[in-house]
Order: sequence, then structure tokens, then C-alpha cells
Amino acid sequence: MADTSFLNWPFFDDRHRAVAKGIEEWAMANLPADHDDVDSACRDLVKQLGGDGWLKHSAPDPDAPSPLDVRTLCLIRETLARHDALGDFAFAMQGLGAGPISLFGNTQQRDWLKRTRSGAAIAAFALTEPKSGSDVANIELTAQHYGTGYVLDGEKTWISNGGIADFYIVFGRTGEAPGAKGLSAFLVPAKVPGFSIAERLETISPHPLARLKFERVCVPATAMIGAPGDGFKIAMATLDIFRSTVAAAALGFARRALDETIKRARSRELFGGPLADLQMVQASIAEMAVDVDAAALLVYRAAWTKDNGAARVTREAAMAKLFATERAQKVIDKAVQIHGGDGVRHGHIVERLYRDIRALRIYEGASEVQKIVIARQMLSGA
Ligand SMILES: Cc1cc2nc3c(=O)[nH]c(=O)nc-3n(C[C@H](O)[C@H](O)[C@H](O)COP(=O)(O)OP(=O)(O)OC[C@H]3O[C@@H](n4cnc5c(N)ncnc54)[C@H](O)[C@@H]3O)c2cc1C
Repeated sequence: MADTSFLNWPFFDDRHRAVAKGIEEWAMANLPADHDDVDSACRDLVKQLGGDGWLKHSAPDPDAPSPLDVRTLCLIRETLARHDALGDFAFAMQGLGAGPISLFGNTQQRDWLKRTRSGAAIAAFALTEPKSGSDVANIELTAQHYGTGYVLDGEKTWISNGGIADFYIVFGRTGEAPGAKGLSAFLVPAKVPGFSIAERLETISPHPLARLKFERVCVPATAMIGAPGDGFKIAMATLDIFRSTVAAAALGFARRALDETIKRARSRELFGGPLADLQMVQASIAEMAVDVDAAALLVYRAAWTKDNGAARVTREAAMAKLFATERAQKVIDKAVQIHGGDGVRHGHIVERLYRDIRALRIYEGASEVQKIVIARQMLSGA
């Protein structure tokens, strides 16, 4: 049983403790999912999470709008990640994919939230391109004003849920100004003519991922989220919220690695006693525990700050993501070491965690990018 003492920290209310208990029970009953076919596993997970009411936390109710509760998002992601990376992925992408609509969508666009919250529609967030990953302002996909709408031409890559999503939030160049100020965001249904999956991408921790192609894809002007030129602002505001939740997922992986290590250290007999009696093993466990608690403090500080009315939490979210993902990698590496040969055995839980954590240090802003964000905030006195 994972440590839940952090739920008594002043960041949380009783409703958060209720969510944490409920999602733990759900995860115990439903996870891990069968990973043999990740597309159908993700479709099933989205349906299940929607049917059982968990996706209602991933986006606001369009009929009774209220702000996203970031602590709830983080608690759910931390718990799901502790049980199964794919379960966390299915929940997370509904939130991130629908994020620009949740934050900036008009009434008509917000209607999609009914479907993402129930699990009837799968969402995706399409920002990255082959030539612009970290350099977001360099996006090349064009969105040209034409008649009563826009024509999209170009590619996106590394798009989670690519191939199974019902709609994509696509960031393209409308050209109001050079660089970041000339981008806009569009809601593009997957069935639109000219849209195709150019390539499916496989990674060390499998989930649906694809390179997308847009060939003269026509969308009406009503597909634009926010105003022309708002795309960069919309992407960054969305990431501001969801970066803390990536950190929460990393925290879930790290907490699981610590739990597994404690179990192993207590049960494995070596040199005439339990592994846990060896002081170097104790030192590793102590370091892992400090990293887990410190990551949790940063994650829930960022979430609490946002929930308590901060317009932006750029610094707090970047710190949480940088620390939680980097330290989770170290915690999991120690877990593998303490498990010995079993730690690298294919299918063992710590071997899986070792693969699951890696991409979190790259996506939604690589660690180096988070350092730049934090340094800029500090130097500007923000
Ligand atoms: C599993 C996975 C899922 C993803 N899902 C999505 C998604 O759903 N939607 C989406 O839009 N994108 C998604 N991405 C893309 C992701 O956001 C990009 O991979 C990421 O932004 C890095 O871009 P890149 O891969 O082009 O690497 P590059 O931009 O080429 O960067 C390579 C490396 O250079 C270093 N670096 C970058 N910038 C700097 C700097 N300023 N200073 C110093 N070093 C630097 C970092 O170490 C970085 O990892 C996903 C990626 C992965 C791996």
C-alpha cells in the first residue's frame, strides 16, 4: 500500500481525499490493462474511465462551467500512473487534448467536452512538427484564410492518440506576425477530407502515437479556437496546467518504484539477513523517499497555486515537471539496481517503470526547456 500521508498536507480538501480514495479503488479493480494491442486498450480505457465518471474531472462541464481542478487532475494521474502507465495516458490525453477547448473554446466548441468527459470521443493535442519540437515558435504547418474558412497544409509528429483520436487540436501558422505571434489553434475532426495518418510511431513504452499529414484540409472559420494569432498563447496556457500533471504521473511512477523496493528489500535474504539490513540499501531507500516527498511538494504546490486563482503557474509547473521527472528516473534506476537481475527482466514492474518514465523528461517541454523557463522567470523577477 502506497504512502498516503501526503493527503493530510494543507494543499488538499476532503473532496480531494475522496477522489484519491475512489480512484485508488478503481485502479485496484481495473488496472493494469492488457497492453497487447495499445489502440484497443486505450479505446477501452477511455470508455471505462468515462463510464465510471473519472473523465468528468478532465474537462469542465459545458453546461455548468467551472475551472479545472489541477489538484484533482494530479491526484488522478499520480494514482493511475502508480498502477499502469497506459491507464494514466488514457486519462491524461483526454485532458490535454481537450485543454485548449476547456480554456478558450466557445459554446459550440465546448460541446465536444460532453463527449470527451463521457469517453465517447478521444482527443489529441497536435503541436509538434518534424522541424519544430522544442522550438514551438517555428511551426510550419500553414493555415491559410480562404473564403469562409482556412486550408491546412503540413505535418505534425509525435502526436499521442494519433490514429485513434476523434479530433485533433492543431496549431498552424496563420501569419498575423512572424514567429510565435503568427500561430492559431484549430479544432479538426479526424474524419475531415485531406487528413491522414502518415506513420504510426513505436516507442519503449507503447501507446498510440503517429505522424499526421494535412493536405488541403478545409475547416470553417468556426474551427478556430480563440482569435487569429492566439495559438502560441493557447498552447502555453494549456501546457501550464498539464505540465504539473506530467510531474504528477512521474511522481506516481516513482512512488511505485519505492514501494516495490521496500517490499523487495524486506523479502530478499542476502548475507544471512534481509537486504533491508544493508546500510547502502537503506541509503538508497532514504534518497528515494526524499525525492518522492520533494517531488510531491512541488507538484501539489503548483496545483494548489493554480487552483487558488493564479493566472499562470509557469515557474511552479516548470519546477515540478523538471524535478519530478528527473528524480523519478533516478528513483526508478535505484529500484532496478536493488532488484538485481529481476530489475531488468522483461515484464517486471520496475523494468516497465524504467521504460515508462523516460519520455516524460522529453515531452511537454524537455528538461532543458524547463530550466530555461525557470531561469527566465527568476531573472525577470516573476
Ligand atoms: C512519447 C511522446 C509523446 C508525445 N506526445 C505529443 C503530443 O501528444 N503532442 C505533441 O504536440 N507533441 C508530442 N510529443 C512531442 C514532444 O513534445 C517533443 O518530442 C518535444 O517537444 C521535443 O521535441 P523533439 O522531439 O523535436 O526534440 P528537439 O526539439 O530536437 O530537442 C532534442 C533535445 O534537445 C535538447 N534541447 C531542446 N531545446 C533545448 C535548449 N533550448 N537548450 C538546450 N537543450 C535543448 C533536449 O534535450 C531535447 O530533448 C511527444 C513526444 C513523445 C516522445
